[in-house]
Amino acid sequence: MTLPYAPRFAFYDGKLQRGSSTSSFQTIDPATAEPTANIHTTTPAAIDAAIASAQKAFPAWSATPAIERARILQRAAALLRARNDDLARIETRDTGKPFSETSTVDVVTGADVLEYFANMVGGGGMNGETTQLRPDAWVYTTKNSLGVCAGIGAWNYPIQIALWKSAPCLAAGNCMVYKPSEFTPLHSTVLAEIYAEAGVPAGVFNVIQGGGEVGAYLTQHPSIAKVSFTGQVSTGAKVAGSAAGGMKYVTMELGGKSPCIILPDADIDQAVDGAMMANFFSTGQVCTNGTRVFVPETIKAEFEKRLLEKVQHIRAGDVLDSNTNFGPLVSKPHYEKVLSYIRHGIQQDKAKLLCGGPEKPTWLSSHYDKSYANGYWVQPTIFTNCTDDMKIVQEEIFGPVMSILSYKTIDEVVARANATKMGLAAGVFTNNLNLAHQVVAKLEAGITWINTWGESPAEMSVGGWKMSGVGVENGRKGLEAWVKNKSTLVEMGGAVPTVFAKL
Ligand code: NDP
Repeated sequence: MTLPYAPRFAFYDGKLQRGSSTSSFQTIDPATAEPTANIHTTTPAAIDAAIASAQKAFPAWSATPAIERARILQRAAALLRARNDDLARIETRDTGKPFSETSTVDVVTGADVLEYFANMVGGGGMNGETTQLRPDAWVYTTKNSLGVCAGIGAWNYPIQIALWKSAPCLAAGNCMVYKPSEFTPLHSTVLAEIYAEAGVPAGVFNVIQGGGEVGAYLTQHPSIAKVSFTGQVSTGAKVAGSAAGGMKYVTMELGGKSPCIILPDADIDQAVDGAMMANFFSTGQVCTNGTRVFVPETIKAEFEKRLLEKVQHIRAGDVLDSNTNFGPLVSKPHYEKVLSYIRHGIQQDKAKLLCGGPEKPTWLSSHYDKSYANGYWVQPTIFTNCTDDMKIVQEEIFGPVMSILSYKTIDEVVARANATKMGLAAGVFTNNLNLAHQVVAKLEAGITWINTWGESPAEMSVGGWKMSGVGVENGRKGLEAWVKNKSTLVEMGGAVPTVFAKL
C-alpha cells in the first residue's frame, strides 16, 4: 500500500540516513486512523553517529560570529513562512488539528521564535557584562555555548516545539539532536532539510526517530550537555533524573491542571470565550489549558447558558476545510485515555454532564466523510457542579473536557486554584484591573493571563512552577537556558592580594 508521505529516517551529517534503522512503525492520521508514513526507528549505533556528527560540527558553529548565525537562522524563518501551508498540512495529517489552526498558529509561532532568537543574538544577545570593581580591577562575563544538546518533543505542537527548542539552541552556538514524538514525527526531517537549505552546516541540527527508549538513550548519553524536554510530568521526572546523573543542564516543560478564574464582575461573553479557548482549542490538547473553570455562584447559571450557546460554534469536520475549528484527538491510546476520564466523570465522580459525553459525535455519521468513522473523534465535554476532590478535576486529561467549579469568595478561589501539585498556567477574567493583579500575584503558576487565554508570543518567557517544570522557554530568559556563564576578574594594579607576604 502506498502511503501519502515518504518514509522518515534519522537525519544527521547533513542528510537523511536511510541505513540508520533495523525496524519501523507507522504513523497514523488521527482523523481517519489510516497510516500515513513508515517511520524507521534509529538504532543506538546511529544515535551515537548523530551525536558524533553534532560534536564534529560544534567547534566551527559555536565560533561562527553570532551575526552570521543570525543571518542563516533568519533565512530558515523565511523558508518556514514561505512554506507555511505545506507544513501546516503535514501537521494537520500528523496531529489531527484542523488546518485553520496549524496554518495560523503552529508554523507561524515556530518561525516567530526562530526570528526572535536570531535577532537577539545578532543584536548582541550573546554579550556578557562588565563590572568595574575599583580603578584597577574589573569583572567581565562571557556567555558560552553548551555543546551538543538533546531536544525531546511532545506530540501536541510538533513543529512549534522543535523550533522553540532548536531556535535558541542553535542561535546560542550549540548543536542539537532532536527526537520528535513517535506519534507526530512527520515534520522533523522536513525541518532539518529547511535548516540545511538555509545554510545551517551539516551536524548542527540532527533528528533521530523512535519512542521512549530512543529518547532515553539520547538523554543519558555522556556527550549530551543539556536536555530540553517537553512532555508529561511522569516522563519528565525520569528524564530529569537521568540527566542529573550526568550533571546535565535541563529545561522541563511539563503538564498542568490550570485554573481559569472568572471574577464576579467579569464580562460574561469575554469570560466564556476565554474558557472555550482554554478547553477546546486543539481539542483540549494544550499544556496550558485552563481546565478548572472557577465561576462565582452568583453568575454560574448565566455563564453556563452562554457557554452552551457558544459550544454550538464548535465545528468538527474535514480537517483541511478552513471552516473546521475542532479535530480529533491525536492517537488511539490518547483517545481511550480521554474517554476513560469522561466515563469516570459521569460514573464515579458523579459530576453533572452539561454537554458532550463518551459517545461518538453524531455528526460523524450524518454530516461528514465516512472515512472519519474510525478516527479518534470525541465530543467537547463540559462537567458542572464539580468539586476539588474529583479525579477529573485533579488530573491532567489533555482533551476537550472542562470542569466548572463554583466559589463564594476571592480568598477561597485563590486557595483552591493553588491546591494542586502543578503550576503551569493560570488566568483571571475581570473588569477590575486592581483585583486582577492582586489575584495574579497570589497564583502559583509560571504563565498567567488577564482577560485572555493561551497566547504565547516569542517575547513571553514561559515555564511551569512546582511539578510543571524547570526553567523557561522564549523571551530574554529563554536564551540564558542555552549558555553557560564564565566570570573573569582582571587585576591591573600589579599586586596579587595575598596573606603570604614577608613580614
Ligand atoms: P510524554 O511524556 O509521553 O512524551 C514526551 C516525549 O518524551 C516523547 O517524545 C516521548 O517519546 C519521549 N519519551 C518517553 N519516554 C522517555 C524517556 N524515558 N526518556 C526520554 N524520552 C522519553 O508526553 P506526551 O507526548 O504525551 O505529551 C503530552 C504532555 O506534554 C502533556 O502532559 C502536556 O501537558 C505536556 N506538554 C507540555 C508543554 C509545556 O510547554 N509545558 C507543551 C506541550 C505539551 P514517544 O512519544 O515517542 O513515546
